Amino acid sequence: MSVQDVLKTIKEKNIEWVDFRFVDLSGRAHHITLPAREVDEETFVNGVAFDGSSIPGFRGIEESDMVMMPDPESVFIDPFTAHPTLNIMSDIYTPDGERYERDPRSIAAKAEAYLQQTGIGTAAFFAPESEFFIFDDVRYESTMNSSFFSVDSEEAAWNTNRKEEGGNLAFKVRVKGGYVPVAPVDSQQDIRSEMCRLLEEAGLRVERHHHEVATAGQAEINFRFDTLLKTADNLMVYKYIVHNTARQFGKVATFMPKPLFGDNGSGMHVHQSIFNGDEPLFYEKGGYANLSEMALNYIGGILYHAPALIALTNPSTNSFKRLVPGYEAPVNLVFSKGNRSAAIRIPVAAVTPKGCRIEFRTPDSTANPYLAFAAMLMAGLDGIKKKINPVELGYGPLDKNIYEMSDEEKSNIRSVPGSLDEALDALQADYEFLTEGGVFTKEFIDNFVALKRGEAKAVSMRVHPHEYGLYFDC
Ligand code: GLU
Ligand code: MG
Ligand code: MG
Repeated sequence: MSVQDVLKTIKEKNIEWVDFRFVDLSGRAHHITLPAREVDEETFVNGVAFDGSSIPGFRGIEESDMVMMPDPESVFIDPFTAHPTLNIMSDIYTPDGERYERDPRSIAAKAEAYLQQTGIGTAAFFAPESEFFIFDDVRYESTMNSSFFSVDSEEAAWNTNRKEEGGNLAFKVRVKGGYVPVAPVDSQQDIRSEMCRLLEEAGLRVERHHHEVATAGQAEINFRFDTLLKTADNLMVYKYIVHNTARQFGKVATFMPKPLFGDNGSGMHVHQSIFNGDEPLFYEKGGYANLSEMALNYIGGILYHAPALIALTNPSTNSFKRLVPGYEAPVNLVFSKGNRSAAIRIPVAAVTPKGCRIEFRTPDSTANPYLAFAAMLMAGLDGIKKKINPVELGYGPLDKNIYEMSDEEKSNIRSVPGSLDEALDALQADYEFLTEGGVFTKEFIDNFVALKRGEAKAVSMRVHPHEYGLYFDC
């Protein structure tokens, strides 16, 4: 959409408010709302001022003035406001008219420009599968109170105190229904369908939705791939619509990677490929999973840099509670076709040359999508430039269930970092692939690491409920 189109939409749709949004380092959106009559062509030149010092990880109080510069490509009509409101995502600028170096959108844009500078391709495409749980208030409460957020066993799940309309005190629909169960185990089809309707209205193209493997209420909605920055914008819209639709139904949605101990967590697998114009560069008939050498090198780059990369794709203390064996989340740094226990899977079912892609399964939705997509692209491009061969480096291919291999068989397989602190250590030791072409800066990484170290420390200092079970009666 051009600026003129945005102004026309404001008129034609009787928009009363325009909501200017930007994204912080943790990937959360913030907004300032202006009366629509205050918005004109000038707004797209001068921007909208805000206080950057109140955003964690942004500027100090002494240099707090910042500017949001709206991107007309990103507008959608807010489906949740009582008063007609147009939402618009913005880039962040300093008062001197420079792009702010810590603005995640600016880093995503720089990564796209860098891809073109390398001459490797014209566009990188991304498609995230961002899983989430929908809890209702009663269940959420009882979950929080039972066994310290755990679904230890089927039995515990069956005993969960759930209310049902009509006062059924007898046999209940089981809580853990497995993958894609139909109703009544899947009680949330209508919520997901409503989320999808609103996503389509906001301009995303939904491809499917389904119930996921975990306890009743885990969901996934897939929307169509797009370029890096556009997909990150789409993911922001996705999370906004998922959270607020759940709220309209009296529920709560969470993208937290591991809300329940003992059950599957929520990942954000990211499908990725590079094109040169119309030509898909990851496909070559006859190779392993029909992958081109470029695709193999991209995989090599991701797996080689994975310990550092994971600080940006899994940047929470909770992320590492998901990355444990047995729950379809990857633990081992290998690639494979079909194998869901590998960090990189190559989808092979119903794949056309244009659809040929890799799926990095490690990330989760606590990642800031702009930073995570940019970092994955940088790791993959480093692999292409340095011709990193994942087979020679011992990253597979491995088409066995890794969870079931003996310790000896697994002894040569590298693992993901075990904690946020370990991932941050790896990032501090291996960040040059990110600073190529000035996409990330060393200053940005140091600031990000400091912010995340603070979170890790805050969590580790607190007394954990499980410690009472272990030590209270000592
Ligand atoms: N929920 C799993 C994860 O944590 C993934 C399940 C799937 O393969 O879609 O990554
Ligand atoms: Mg899934
Ligand atoms: Mg997947």
